[in-house]
Amino acid sequence: MRVNINLECTECGERNYLTNKNKRNNPDRIEVKKYCPRERKVTLHREVKK
Ligand SMILES: [Zn+2]
Repeated sequence: MRVNINLECTECGERNYLTNKNKRNNPDRIEVKKYCPRERKVTLHREVKK
């Protein structure tokens, strides 16, 4: 049930992280605060399909 996803910065659109999630535990789009190296600050990253 694990699927690979990209985490995209909601501010600049850069895809900074490749991760995976359990589709059963997280059926909806996940959002996490992560460091964006392009902006050099922590921003909200949202799941996008590969
Ligand atoms: Zn960014």
